[in-house]
Amino acid sequence: MKLAVIGTGYVGLVTGTCFSETGNDVTCVDIDLEKVKRLQQGEIPIFEPGLDLIFHRNVSKGRLHFTSDLEKAITDAQIIFLALPTPPGADHSADLSFVLSAAEQISKLITSYKVIVDKSTVPVGTSEKVREVMSQHTNIPFDVVSNPEFLREGVAVEDFLKPDRVVIGTSSDTARKWMEQLYEPFVRQGNPIIFMDERSAEMTKYAANAYLATKISFMNEIANLCELTGADVDKVRIGIGSDTRIGKRFLFPGVGFGGSCFPKDVMALAKTAKDNAYDFRILNAVIEVNKNQREFFLQKVTKFFKGDLQSKKIAIWGLAFKPNTDDIREAPAVYIINDLLALGVEVHAYDPEAMENVAKRFGNQVQFAEDQYEVLKDAEALIIITEWSEFRSPDFEKMSSYLKSKVIFDGRNVFSVDDMREKGFYYESIGRLTVHA
Ligand code: NAD
Repeated sequence: MKLAVIGTGYVGLVTGTCFSETGNDVTCVDIDLEKVKRLQQGEIPIFEPGLDLIFHRNVSKGRLHFTSDLEKAITDAQIIFLALPTPPGADHSADLSFVLSAAEQISKLITSYKVIVDKSTVPVGTSEKVREVMSQHTNIPFDVVSNPEFLREGVAVEDFLKPDRVVIGTSSDTARKWMEQLYEPFVRQGNPIIFMDERSAEMTKYAANAYLATKISFMNEIANLCELTGADVDKVRIGIGSDTRIGKRFLFPGVGFGGSCFPKDVMALAKTAKDNAYDFRILNAVIEVNKNQREFFLQKVTKFFKGDLQSKKIAIWGLAFKPNTDDIREAPAVYIINDLLALGVEVHAYDPEAMENVAKRFGNQVQFAEDQYEVLKDAEALIIITEWSEFRSPDFEKMSSYLKSKVIFDGRNVFSVDDMREKGFYYESIGRLTVHA
């Protein structure tokens, strides 16, 4: 099939590349000329494991193209995917301006029937809005489909190629047939393509993210209570996760969720509830708990230093909002760095992939190191914010010799409490006993 993907960010680039992998001819469009240029030169502007291999394979087979020319991209395309940003607006609702303005531009350019597929995360009713906007500018027939994306950054390629499920909201027989044909190669193991109406598909995406965010905030509250009562959240987590009704995944406490999706999607769903005069109490609490969790973690640091962090050198391991990505949108690290800087801390940081993005945000307010040990030199403490694999089994002797004081604040429970005790560190983590050196 001939496809166009509008927006070549984390979702659009993975979507376009993975669809070309199954033999489709895909043209990806972006308004960011620099990004398009890099892609045309074979350079992938984001870090996403496994993407480079299939990207280069399909570019060289001539099935994957990049352009900034919308008309060129959509003229022959049967299906046009919208993978555009839907950032939070001032009132916390999803800002639909990118989606609606692209829809308008598309409607002015099409000359034959198209299926317009919304892959962006958009509130209930957006399919109708897209249809309305387009209908004002064209008499050419088209259908609008809601096809929310569930990929996770860091494992996006794997998620896209082998999705747990594909959700498609449409009331059009042609669109249903084309979408089924397109996705069939990805669900050969039997995972479902779930068809529903557009509104339900739109809500499904928000419900999924809100539920997952709720799980995280719930576990963070349990962890905080564990600390106060002397229970160990790791043991509690395993204890409850073995119940199949609960499940083992998404039960890890930490410094709160971040990223480009959970925070904005939870807020947008709360706004949808408010607009419908419904008080979604759990969601409001999820947001509040998430904010508190970061503050609670930082209080551990300030308490340890008795409130005096002025000119203290603190090292940070992990800046990305989660491992295996360079994405720092709404990353807990960004909030924590802001707070540390406000307290006069000399912040030194290391992350395998996200330092460039953090440097763009903080300039020379943050010092970066070449590796995870160099950053520790003469630091009064180490703060772990992102649980990259390379942090899990470090050379503790080297760490001890580089750090000025053997003090670790672990926001992701990367190390075992017993290990830290044995190695003589002062160690505070989440929902577990503090180890006093
Ligand atoms: P992104 O910011 O990484 O990418 C968006 C891209 O769209 C950018 O490259 C931008 O330059 C481009 N763009 C903006 N306006 C354009 C226009 N008029 N024409 C062409 N290109 C344009 O965003 P993302 O993370 O890929 O997210 C896209 C959507 O997918 C959002 O709604 C998001 O909530 C949703 N989503 C994201 C993820 C994720 O993990 N990132 C997962 C599922 C769903």
